[in-house]
Amino acid sequence: MDKAEILRLDRRHVWHPCTQEKDHEAAPPIPIARGEGVFLFDVDGNRYIDGVSSWWVNIFGHNHPRLNAALSQQASRVAHHIFAGFTHEPAVELASRLAALAPGDLSKVFFTDNGSAAVEAALKMSFQYWQQVGRPNKTRFVSISEAYHGETVGALSVGGCDLYRDIYRPILLEGYQVAGPDCFRCPYGLHRDSCQAECFAAMEQLVERERERIAGVIIEPLIQGAAGMRIYPPVYLRKLRQLCDRCQVHYIADEIAVAFGRTGRMFANEHAGVAPDMMCLSKGITGGYMPLAVVLTTEEIYQAFYDDYETMKTFFHSHSYSGNPLGCALAVEVLRIFEQERILEGLAPRMALLDEYAPRFEALEHVGEFRRCGMVAAVEMVENKAGKIAYPWQQRRGYRVYQRALKKGALLRPLGNVIYFMPPLTIPVATLRELLEIALQTIAEETQKLA
Ligand SMILES: *Cc1c(COP(=O)(O)O)cnc(C)c1O
Repeated sequence: MDKAEILRLDRRHVWHPCTQEKDHEAAPPIPIARGEGVFLFDVDGNRYIDGVSSWWVNIFGHNHPRLNAALSQQASRVAHHIFAGFTHEPAVELASRLAALAPGDLSKVFFTDNGSAAVEAALKMSFQYWQQVGRPNKTRFVSISEAYHGETVGALSVGGCDLYRDIYRPILLEGYQVAGPDCFRCPYGLHRDSCQAECFAAMEQLVERERERIAGVIIEPLIQGAAGMRIYPPVYLRKLRQLCDRCQVHYIADEIAVAFGRTGRMFANEHAGVAPDMMCLSKGITGGYMPLAVVLTTEEIYQAFYDDYETMKTFFHSHSYSGNPLGCALAVEVLRIFEQERILEGLAPRMALLDEYAPRFEALEHVGEFRRCGMVAAVEMVENKAGKIAYPWQQRRGYRVYQRALKKGALLRPLGNVIYFMPPLTIPVATLRELLEIALQTIAEETQKLA
């Protein structure tokens, strides 16, 4: 097919995710021909630095020789088989490696096939646990403002981004939402580097009061991704762990975006030195090759389901692609690469380079904050810097920066007024510099031109 034909058929038959299809009239989707390392190449041969790891999944770059080999080796054995009543080596190796790496005693691994499905499974598991240990009133979940846990109905119910959620309110589950950390506009006037998560008071009051009705608290540790890469300090998680222990409430960590090195550690919870009761993983787990997700949990929770069949304590939850062998084989190879290629040790110069650009971004008239946690950095554009006043969303500043940056060879898909960097962990330092330069220039052009 030539480019015109691809675009013609796309226009006629494809409905893209999270996209106003009418935008494609002015900016059609870009047909990609291949990937190589941190670059994507379109069918015309234009090169794009994948600054967002293709929606945060591609942690080692595209067309990776070791991942290609792991995939084709597994495909030549068996691509998929039923995972109820059957098992396979990649799944058990992955489960035991994850159990060994995970904080605390998260020793049981439940497989799903995407992040939202992992969140659904964790919520159901928590709910059912309380039913089966004689606490049937513990049925609700607590989440924080601007939370993002996926787009299926259960996951949306514990989300807090109105953009994705508002219209569906009538069909969402009842739960509790409390104000979460908002460090850029901290109501206490403190800084995330030195505060004691004073804002945790909101969570504390609610959970103390409603503990008899609460099954669990779900949170994105350290970085609220879809909210615009809101970064908050580990002390919040330490307080949350203590609160959950005190009130007998599950701490469900949604590490879908932040695990696998994103924060500079294997798991974000390690920064706080705490272990959740359930941990959802996906995104980077297969290096961006295959959809796969897991929920890790404790022996104690597992035991509440373990009994004679007639007791009806089974966790009746399944996905056709549960434990997909291709995904598992890739995930095992990802963990081997982390170990053998010392990926976490290699992040330091890249994180240092991101920091080096902080003052340059913050010098711009319309940049309110440059923030970083591990290999994630974000630039928040504002209409008024002193008042931290956001640009009206209708101006689509982020989207405009994204369109401009594409022409300069960088893929920087925004979140509202926030331009962020979430490149493959292996991005060469020189390419990261190139990406940052493009962003700096593009943001300056966009905000100064229309200011
Ligand atoms: C992406 C994401 C999800 C949903 O994962 P999908 O695979 O897109 O369904 C859930 N939680 C967080 C924190 C995410 O970043």
